[in-house]
Amino acid sequence: MAYDEDVGEFSPPSATNENLTCDFLVAGGGLSGLSAADAAIRRGLNVVVIEKGVYGKEAASGLSAGQFLTGWAKPIDVMITELAQQDMEKGVYGVQAHRRAERRVRAFLRRTVEGCQQLEELDHDYNLRASVQHGACTAAITEADMASLEAAYRFMEKSNLRALMPLADKRRPPFFEILGARQLQRRYGTAEGFYAGGVIDRFGGSFRPRKFLIGLARALRKRGVRFFQHTEAQALDFADHQMTVFCGNGATIGANTLFMANAYARHINGDALERAIFEYDYVVEVELPEGAKTLMAGSVLSDTRDPCFYARRHGRRLYMGYEETAETSPEIMRDVARRTLEEGKRVFPALGSLGDRDIKNAWSGRVYYTLDDYPFVERRHGGRVITFAAPSDHGNSLALRIGQLVGNVVPRSTSQPKNEADERQRRRNAEQLRLFESFPKGLRLRPGRRYQEAAFRDPEPPVVVSPAKTSVRNRSA
Ligand SMILES: Cc1cc2nc3c(=O)[nH]c(=O)nc-3n(C[C@H](O)[C@H](O)[C@H](O)COP(=O)(O)OP(=O)(O)OC[C@H]3O[C@@H](n4cnc5c(N)ncnc54)[C@H](O)[C@@H]3O)c2cc1C
Repeated sequence: MAYDEDVGEFSPPSATNENLTCDFLVAGGGLSGLSAADAAIRRGLNVVVIEKGVYGKEAASGLSAGQFLTGWAKPIDVMITELAQQDMEKGVYGVQAHRRAERRVRAFLRRTVEGCQQLEELDHDYNLRASVQHGACTAAITEADMASLEAAYRFMEKSNLRALMPLADKRRPPFFEILGARQLQRRYGTAEGFYAGGVIDRFGGSFRPRKFLIGLARALRKRGVRFFQHTEAQALDFADHQMTVFCGNGATIGANTLFMANAYARHINGDALERAIFEYDYVVEVELPEGAKTLMAGSVLSDTRDPCFYARRHGRRLYMGYEETAETSPEIMRDVARRTLEEGKRVFPALGSLGDRDIKNAWSGRVYYTLDDYPFVERRHGGRVITFAAPSDHGNSLALRIGQLVGNVVPRSTSQPKNEADERQRRRNAEQLRLFESFPKGLRLRPGRRYQEAAFRDPEPPVVVSPAKTSVRNRSA
């Protein structure tokens, strides 16, 4: 089943058995890869993007639920504690370690806000018409979740993130709004008593992922980026000061710099330092009943469960997700779609009249889990191989921003003249990337439940999580 059928295909050739050269090779045609390609082509580099599958069909970026958000999988206080601990292990004194950790978390949050803004900029610059809208609501299941959400946003406020809001009438409006239970119910059409309240994040929002991704690829091709599909980077060689990337289809590509864009480069050359396992996330599409007041005040809502329930509205279409599974098949898809609609009906009473026959479409996308708890960037071979990997069930905005930083740090080939502004930007962006390089490595993602379940899952069917669960969801700030 295709997602967003209104969007045409993007089918570049496969480069089978070809010999190519470029300044900058991007492996991975998702948001991080295309964003890097965009930044590099703007700087005049010669750029090639290869995708191991079909553009827009394999990347999480083409299949996602279409929210873009600030923040990360972990609550802010947990991140501060962990990062302070990391510094203390290196001998930094307690209070100082805590302050440093706060600074790092602030910088991290800023990058995610910049990612949200970049999404809008790309949509605008390339006229992608991917229906980008601001305002993403996170709904709290319990009072404790609500308190945690509020604390996160107070921290962001103290971190002066408001300075990143665009001016409106010569002032910067607040970037979030806290909603009580009744306000949330009235404005988003949720069931009475279901949520304890929520927060609307105005940096975050919603968009049409496939429309965005395919449109961006087309626009970049027009700008001169060369694209290939069914072309998987499999091995690297550094003979005679030349880096060559060998692909599964026989293509060989000589490049100055390689960016593995969430493409699990650590497995390349058998260098399997990290285990990647994956699950499937689902999106289910229904048509809203005539006159339904669902998501009237804002087009997207997710909640604090783990995994969360999320919903995005685009006209009369409603996209929802709720479950993850270890494997997928048409039968599993049908069952998940049915249960997701049931959950949707509990959250939004206006869907009450819908039945299985009203499910228009349902699809799944792969979500990778790595042994790293934080998104990481690694520069190896003198910076010529840059790897970005993040568990991909979170982070349209982060993927975009990290890709942009990478595209901006890639050196020009020596034959090109140096330009001072470009050098300054390179240095600034390299500094910002270092944050991601310095995050703790080897921690387990979301210790416990989801990781363990994915790794050692028994063949039982997935259990629908009860709304009483209190864990804070990864897609919230
Ligand atoms: C169903 C679903 C719903 C989601 N909903 C949301 C949401 O609402 N909000 C949000 O923020 N995030 C969401 N996400 C996560 C979000 O989509 C990802 O964080 C983001 O798209 C990651 O982008 P990326 O470019 O880093 O990786 P990807 O989009 O996964 O792209 C990586 C690409 O690399 C390719 N590749 C891998 N190895 C190689 C190789 N060796 N050579 C060449 N190519 C290779 C892959 O085929 C893939 O196309 C969702 C994900 C899924 C699956």
